[in-house]
Amino acid sequence: MLKLLRQLIQIANNEEDIEQILTIIVQHVREALHSDVCSIFLIDHARPMLTLRAADGIPVNPNEPTNIPLDKGLIGLVVKRGEAVNISTVMPDADNFNNESCRAFLGVPIQYRRRLSGVLMVYNKSNRTYDELEESFLVTLAIQLAGIISKSEAHGALTQAEQQSQKTNFTLRGFGGSPGIGIGQAKVICVSTKLSDVPDRKIENIEAEIDSFCVALQLAREETKQMEERLSVNLSSEERELFHAYLKILDSQAFKDEVVKRIRQNQWAQGAVAKVVRGYVRQFEEMENEYFKERSSDLRDLGHRILFYLESKIPRVIKYPKRTILVGEEIAVSHLADVPEDRLAGIVSTTGSSNSHIAILARALGIPIVMGARALPIAKLHDKQIIVDGYSGNVHLSPSLKVLRAFERLAREETALDAELKYLQQLPAKTTDGQIVALYTNTGLMSGIERSLSINSEGIGLYRTEMPFMICDRFPSVQEQQIIYRRLLEAFAPRPVTMRLLDIGGDKTLPYFPIKESNPFLGWRGIRVLLDHPEIFSVQVRAMLQANIGLNNLKIMLPMITDVSEVDDALAMIDKIYQEILAEGVEMKKPEVGVMVEVPAAVYQGKALAERVDFLSVGSNDLTQYLLAVDRNNAQVANLYSSFHPTVLQALMQIVERAHGAKKKVSICGEMAGNPTAVVLLMAMGFDALSMSANNLLRVKWVIRTFSMRKAKKLLKAALSMENATHIRKLLERALTEAGLGGLVRPGRRAQ
Ligand code: PEP
Ligand code: MG
Repeated sequence: MLKLLRQLIQIANNEEDIEQILTIIVQHVREALHSDVCSIFLIDHARPMLTLRAADGIPVNPNEPTNIPLDKGLIGLVVKRGEAVNISTVMPDADNFNNESCRAFLGVPIQYRRRLSGVLMVYNKSNRTYDELEESFLVTLAIQLAGIISKSEAHGALTQAEQQSQKTNFTLRGFGGSPGIGIGQAKVICVSTKLSDVPDRKIENIEAEIDSFCVALQLAREETKQMEERLSVNLSSEERELFHAYLKILDSQAFKDEVVKRIRQNQWAQGAVAKVVRGYVRQFEEMENEYFKERSSDLRDLGHRILFYLESKIPRVIKYPKRTILVGEEIAVSHLADVPEDRLAGIVSTTGSSNSHIAILARALGIPIVMGARALPIAKLHDKQIIVDGYSGNVHLSPSLKVLRAFERLAREETALDAELKYLQQLPAKTTDGQIVALYTNTGLMSGIERSLSINSEGIGLYRTEMPFMICDRFPSVQEQQIIYRRLLEAFAPRPVTMRLLDIGGDKTLPYFPIKESNPFLGWRGIRVLLDHPEIFSVQVRAMLQANIGLNNLKIMLPMITDVSEVDDALAMIDKIYQEILAEGVEMKKPEVGVMVEVPAAVYQGKALAERVDFLSVGSNDLTQYLLAVDRNNAQVANLYSSFHPTVLQALMQIVERAHGAKKKVSICGEMAGNPTAVVLLMAMGFDALSMSANNLLRVKWVIRTFSMRKAKKLLKAALSMENATHIRKLLERALTEAGLGGLVRPGRRAQ
């Protein structure tokens, strides 16, 4: 059964046509479970009805679809219960969908993210019992099928609309990662290159495309040959045969001709390769011989390798439209950097969540982003018009003129709001009852400096030093780092610049320093790496201190602290380097050193930590992740990630209390600080400073200047009495809207 399950899932993952997938599944399942009938009903949510989409054992007439109400008979029972229904003695009068006699019935729901998409069922006309194993087989298959169906729903809607050359107005949900409205043309980034995900794309320069393909084919061939040679000692004769078979395919004129033929039909090389390899894979999967059947996955791998060489080894000149929306499974910083700044209108990623680092970067650049839009039919999107709503997390595919006009109006209002808020640049962040909150900016990019200066930021509250390390192909030297740090310190002097020591690990890796762990967020990251590698630590601290000579506006921050001993060790190392520099005859004030509070342990030890250093700064992105045990990058659980969770609020209160108890300042530099909805709470808690992306600063200042501290404290008290993050967020959104700041919580300018 496991083997069949794997085989079916593989087919489902690699086949594009959903009808084909469902047909194959019902055939195999009916056979495997010795049933008289196997069928799949999918829900048409618009009507709402169950529609028979595939069946084996009874005829299906595609011209006269069988529709049944959601509550009808045995299938309706599965819908109602939302779990498996297994009846071995069906009453003769039980309502079966096709009025056929049915004595044994097993039906399971197909559900994706709590939403029912259909029912997979089998039945027998004579008595029998479906045993536990059969039931769990069907349940497992339905779970796998659910994701594939939800993706194909979007895919199907687009294809249908294309055929009828109409606009789909199809909307998909993800998570808003950077507010704003982006309207533009999709440019699909292929990184994972699953054969079925390679988009169709038309090309103009056919000969250049054929050349690229030939080079990639040759590179894949060379790699396979080398692999065979390397492994030959350990290979059985059967396995060696396999390599020969691979090489035969790579050398085969037929394979090459098939791909070239498709390229000549204006298909880009990746699309042509994917289609041809998929054809081969299908042929292997249908073979009787088990050994060859299994080899279909090797063939797929071969296809992936050619795609890899097509994408990564051959530099491709990609033309970006005037308003580009980058779309992909995983968008990397380098993809973002590839697009000219004035052309990037938005980003959609099928993975990740609003606290993934790419979302943080998008916020810093002011680009709307939707993360975790898992059902997005990437392969169909290239060049399509898309609207990215970074507030709600909605992605509108091929919108109608009416929808397009509505969003264009909202985008115009957004721009107008930003322009309107410019008057705040020269004004202090002062509440209506006279309390001042310091506002700093976060940066990691040099382009962030200008933006921060132009809005009159009071300093840098978090400089993520990973960025200069990421763009190098080795650890940057003392001199190289010193130049970068000096530019930043000089630009802001005498305003403070808080530099965080290298925080790698987790989801931030350096290409030249790979860290492979099964659980990277609980592994070797931040200060743990630095203390294990004093050579990296001391080069960075030396570069920072030398850059600070004559300016004295540097502050140093330690990432991912979980234990006081880490602080003691780090302080001793910083002091040693400081003394060495003084010994060279330089005069310099010792920079303040602070600790980032990013893990629950640091909250509980807040007092001990605060007593050791000059300041604390809360990294609410990681703190939320660790308090709620929700991976900040995981789209599957992104709905659980909320900094408004009562536990997070309690932790923040405790940190402020412990820092102030030790007479130390405390700031917050996680994304929460730049969220206008959260600001009222943070100022009421008593944070001395908020540090955020430059794009949010004026909006945050607007909130602070609109509220009194008294009102903020009242709202905090109300929030702390609540037990649910959504209720807390709604309370604050209401308060902002009532105060005339509705434009900060939803798109557009109007304060609804
Ligand atoms: C945080 O965790 O809140 C933080 C500021 O650090 P980063 O997002 O870079 O992990
Ligand atoms: Mg962090």
